Amino acid sequence: MRFHKSESAFFVFMALILGAGLLTVYAYGIILDPNGYFAVPRGFEAASFVGQLMFASGVLLATALFFGMFLIYPLIRTQAREGYALREMTESLSARSETLEHAALTDSLTGMQNRRYFDDALREYLDEFRRVDKPVGLMILDLDHFKQVNDTHGHDVGDRVLKEVANCLRDLTRFHDVVARLGGEEFAVVAPNMADDALIKLAERIRKAVAALTLTTSGNVRLKVTTSIGLAVWDRKETADEFFRRADKQLYQAKRQGRNRVCA
Ligand code: GH3
Ligand code: MG
Ligand code: MG
Repeated sequence: MRFHKSESAFFVFMALILGAGLLTVYAYGIILDPNGYFAVPRGFEAASFVGQLMFASGVLLATALFFGMFLIYPLIRTQAREGYALREMTESLSARSETLEHAALTDSLTGMQNRRYFDDALREYLDEFRRVDKPVGLMILDLDHFKQVNDTHGHDVGDRVLKEVANCLRDLTRFHDVVARLGGEEFAVVAPNMADDALIKLAERIRKAVAALTLTTSGNVRLKVTTSIGLAVWDRKETADEFFRRADKQLYQAKRQGRNRVCA
């Protein structure tokens, strides 16, 4: 077994104290009864022998003190400092990994959940809702002619529009709905416990709210956007991918039928 430096120092410290203690007990025994159990060695006088024992004990205690002050205490200080630095490092590392995890699941432009989060969340919701008899609604939104917005007003204005739409979606959805930016100008909402009429009503509210958004550009142009929305209610058999594709088909229909509309 290998001992750490501070452990070895501690054992030496204890041995010195033990030695000093034994010498003191020896001296005390002689004082109590010079002819008793603790005998004075031949050729020594009891009083001077006791004195020598006490002196040796003092030397051992002084050595222990020296050891403690100049070896053990600095070692303890170093270890405490190292422990503190290590703890700080662990804390900052775990904070960093939390930030990274958050960043990996968040869309940096809008602060919404991203595609990766959405895919996992949809799968998890379907797994949960397979067991309970409740519907799950899915809504996919795609802004209409968004390329034109970028081409006409610039990418920064396009980004502002995306943020406004994201805020609008956040305002109109419920706490447990999953609202995500899938990429580009495409968003999705998973609405648990919502089917048919309620889902269409929510989608219409969102569509109208987006159409009502007005952005003023730096050139004082008032800009309007619209969105097409595809809806699907889970049939309780299809996979997350199949469910998504069905809603996406409805989005395609909405585009084909002239945009700024909801298709279910
Ligand atoms: P449609 O009505 O058929 O959906 O037409 P669209 O122009 O919206 O569709 P298209 O797919 O042709 O163009 C999408 C545009 O979205 C292209 C790209 O310039 C823009 N876009 C994608 N991501 C971003 C982004 O992060 N910021 C900005 N400003 N624009 C983006
Ligand atoms: Mg698109
Ligand atoms: Mg589009």
